Amino acid sequence: MASKPKILIVDDHPTTLKMLGLVLKGMDVDVIEASNGLDAIEAARQHQPTVILLDIIMPDIDGFQVLSVIKQGAHTSSIPVIFLSGVEDSESKIRGLKCGAVDFINKPFNAEEVRARVSTHIKIRELEQALIAKNISLEDDLQRIVTTVNEGIISTDIEGNISFTNPHASEITGYNVAELQGMNLNQLFNHEDNPAQNNLLTNLLEPKGAISAQNTQMIQKDGGLVDVRFSCSPKLENNTLTGTVLIVSDRTDEVAREKALEKAREELRKQRESLAHIERLSTMGEMAAGFAHEVNQPLTAIANYTALSHRLLANPEKHDKLGEVLDKINTQSIRASEVIKRLRGFVAKPSTENRISVSTKQLVTDVITLAEVDAKNNSVPVAIAPHFEDGVVLADPIELQQVLLNLVRNAVESTAEANNKSPVVVDCCAIGKGELKLTVKDHGVGITDEAAKSLFHPFFSTKARGMGIGLSVCKTIVESHGGIIGFEQSDHGALFYLQLPRDSD
Ligand code: ADP
Repeated sequence: MASKPKILIVDDHPTTLKMLGLVLKGMDVDVIEASNGLDAIEAARQHQPTVILLDIIMPDIDGFQVLSVIKQGAHTSSIPVIFLSGVEDSESKIRGLKCGAVDFINKPFNAEEVRARVSTHIKIRELEQALIAKNISLEDDLQRIVTTVNEGIISTDIEGNISFTNPHASEITGYNVAELQGMNLNQLFNHEDNPAQNNLLTNLLEPKGAISAQNTQMIQKDGGLVDVRFSCSPKLENNTLTGTVLIVSDRTDEVAREKALEKAREELRKQRESLAHIERLSTMGEMAAGFAHEVNQPLTAIANYTALSHRLLANPEKHDKLGEVLDKINTQSIRASEVIKRLRGFVAKPSTENRISVSTKQLVTDVITLAEVDAKNNSVPVAIAPHFEDGVVLADPIELQQVLLNLVRNAVESTAEANNKSPVVVDCCAIGKGELKLTVKDHGVGITDEAAKSLFHPFFSTKARGMGIGLSVCKTIVESHGGIIGFEQSDHGALFYLQLPRDSD
């Protein structure tokens, strides 16, 4: 239960003391009496009353002297003092107010007035004390938050000189709280290596409103750099900028995680490239016999033309024909070397991501040349659609060749399996302004509902000697180019498509 308010009454006249005591009895308060100045000071110290009613005129130490001692006491200074004075004594009233009295009660007393004034001051005093308690608790809460938050808090004046930091700011910077006081923000931020940041610090101290989270580095006490994220809000007093408050968090772990993720991504990219390379080698292995035949044709022609040259050499009358034959040898050797160049380009492992602007028409022409032998062997021609719309994509040409060659070879094989000779048609059209759609359409066996579920899964194949990695590699290549790959079923075969973003340049 809360204790009752204590009222200290001070008067050298016993009758007055008695009367005041009687008046206050009607209130729910404890009354303490003192009949001289010394006793009053002692009682105030000891009991710390809620309100003091103090007579002005007393022998030895008068009311003004008592008031002055009470106002200087550490534990008594805030106790409200009401003076008891004669009605006409206005000079004393003014002096009393100057010394810190809060009110006056005139003698002789009116009981109702005494009670009304005393209860008003009890109320005011209680409200004041509740407010003080609330403030203390708020400050405690604030202090707890400031010391326990995971962020460093740095408060500066208008020049960027630090006026306050919390312990976490010390952990981040390596300086203790005392060392940070008075340092300047410039000493903590890596402004020399980073002039842009220098501007940023200047901006902090301009009344531009709060700066949302930004990543940067701070200089630690040992000269090392620490990755941090900070945000900042201006300190305003009456709309005037007085400084700034920075909230800083340590990003060391986050940066390490980002680097590990980047490394893992790089690893994955290399593995994807290796897999794509293996798949190209395997495709080449499958196509080797056809290519051998293709290279063999010009080599046989060269051998024949060389034999003919020898015969012409033996007959001086026919020397004029020699030039023509040598030209033919030259043409055939270029043809053979073109085939080998194409193969070498296709199996070469790209060392890094090699994205360049590629024409879709050129891409498809090169793929049809590569697929020529397969097409001939299966008696299924491969054609470019009459309304093929040429466009430019940003791509690794070898990787995209690989995708299209895969789709074209699958289409040729499927058409042959269906004992059909209808051409496989490669087309290209624009989708909106930003994308190109390349399609490979065949009249082959088509795709069963069962196969449709697993087409792009690695090692899914319905072919006796198929590895089943072609389409899954195509998918990773197309997706790494920011595109999508898919298929549509048709009654007369299948249509595979890839959508790629146009090169924006
Ligand atoms: P592989 O050719 O080694 O089987 P792919 O990943 O290229 O590997 O193809 C997987 C499977 O997808 C094929 O075995 C085949 O069943 C099916 N497929 C691919 N293209 C076509 C197509 N144009 N028509 C019918 N089926 C196809």
